[in-house]
Amino acid sequence: MSVSDLPPLRDVIARHGLSANKSFGQHFLLDLNITDKIARATGPLDGITVMEVGPGPGGLTRSLLTAGAHKVVAVEMDKRFIPALDEIRLASDERLKIVLGNGLKVDPSAHDVTRIASNLPYNVGTKMLINWLTARPIFWDRLVLMFQKEVADRVTARPGDKAFGRLAILAQSVARADNLMDVPARAFTPPPKVDSAVIVLEPLPESERYDDLKSLARVTEAAFGMRRKMLRRSLRGIAKQNGLEVEPWLKAANVDPEKRPEALQISDFHRLADYLRNNAG
Ligand code: SAM
Repeated sequence: MSVSDLPPLRDVIARHGLSANKSFGQHFLLDLNITDKIARATGPLDGITVMEVGPGPGGLTRSLLTAGAHKVVAVEMDKRFIPALDEIRLASDERLKIVLGNGLKVDPSAHDVTRIASNLPYNVGTKMLINWLTARPIFWDRLVLMFQKEVADRVTARPGDKAFGRLAILAQSVARADNLMDVPARAFTPPPKVDSAVIVLEPLPESERYDDLKSLARVTEAAFGMRRKMLRRSLRGIAKQNGLEVEPWLKAANVDPEKRPEALQISDFHRLADYLRNNAG
């Protein structure tokens, strides 16, 4: 039997009694047209080991294997899904490796992972993304991730957009981030309360990456923590904590103190973070 000969996901869910457990953020994608599209955006997959966090009953897992992934490392926390995933493992000539555990704790490089595709659980998705953005060296050449739409927008937002803030700045300091498609709540079983979106991240060329995400996180947290205030006001506290005067800091970074954070370019935040790192007392 091959992966495409496996019984429909609804049958698998019924046979194994896999009702969705809300505490694990379980909303399943049973429409293979959508999972195939996510798999295509992850490819080409020849020779590639893809990690999938939270495979659940395995819709996206099947699509990644059918699209030709050399290996899929599926990390699932809920052991009820293991028998259903085992059927996929057998039908795929062992190209599926099942890891029972927490995706936040698994070290992808221990499994030779170079790409990630996941329909992430809402409650831990942002944390996982930050883990992958701050991993050094960056082990992935592409991330294809489904989030709730509001979080996806916060990752892909550009300066001036309503959703522009800390997450967009951190993500786009190391990667290109683009929306692949929006996915309405009704595409899931059971439907969540909000819509979702799939985004694609690809690392920037090394010379264009900004590496000090720690200082950047501190500056952006302070600036967007008071997003309606001018920077001379919102950065006053963090300046003081670090023995700095806010006006000379903004001047040295060539940033207008009367601007609000959403009006800045990402490179402005890099200069603010550089100054903070180099001059904090
Ligand atoms: N990929 C499946 C799909 O698209 O139908 C299921 C997606 S569902 C939104 C999220 C999955 O992540 C669930 O199977 C859940 O059990 C699993 N999960 C939740 N928290 C997890 C964690 N910390 N590590 C690994 N898996 C997790």
